[in-house]
Amino acid sequence: MSARGRMETYEVRVLHEGYSRLVDDVFEANCTCTLITGPYNIIVDTMTPWDGNYILKRLKEFDLTPGDIQFVISTHGHSDHVGNNNLFLSARHIVGRCISYRTTYFDEPFSRGDEYVIDPESLRVISTPGHTLACVTVLVKTDEGLVAIAGDLFEKLEDVYNEYVWLGAGSENPDLQRHNRAKIIQLADYIIPGHGPRFKVTKEMKEKFKP
Ligand SMILES: [Zn+2]
Repeated sequence: MSARGRMETYEVRVLHEGYSRLVDDVFEANCTCTLITGPYNIIVDTMTPWDGNYILKRLKEFDLTPGDIQFVISTHGHSDHVGNNNLFLSARHIVGRCISYRTTYFDEPFSRGDEYVIDPESLRVISTPGHTLACVTVLVKTDEGLVAIAGDLFEKLEDVYNEYVWLGAGSENPDLQRHNRAKIIQLADYIIPGHGPRFKVTKEMKEKFKP
């Protein structure tokens, strides 16, 4: 039970705010790294291989070590989203739609596109292909509402208004991505995109993306 006297829920904290930008015609990017704490502790998207010490330092601020993390989720397999998965040796690893622990691979219906339920009350991973065909989104019920940790399904807030932002970031299937973007906008109260600050899903957005 929490201090508020009811069932413990999950909290979502951004450990690193992702970005992508052109600097003198050179594309620079790093991903958003998110920590979910609650009955399960989960880290979503682990940045580039050069960011391990940064992640350890941020975890320490919450009194956590890698051994306290039960799930590592990479929303997809690009290098800036998997770079430090190997810090988390007690965790089950979910990379896109592939689930493994050590050398064991789990043939879950998830790998064929079904959702993967971590906590039936509050936490599931759903398939949201587009940016890559194996992309997933983590949905977390919190006190503030439903938070979607969407990886590069959304690059950043700007792409809600300008398609070229997410198309420019690369899309293996733009039609699927468009469809899944609309689905997440309808579902979520907040979106944490792959390369920008978290944003609130407004009524106007839900209207604009109505199927
Ligand atoms: Zn990315």
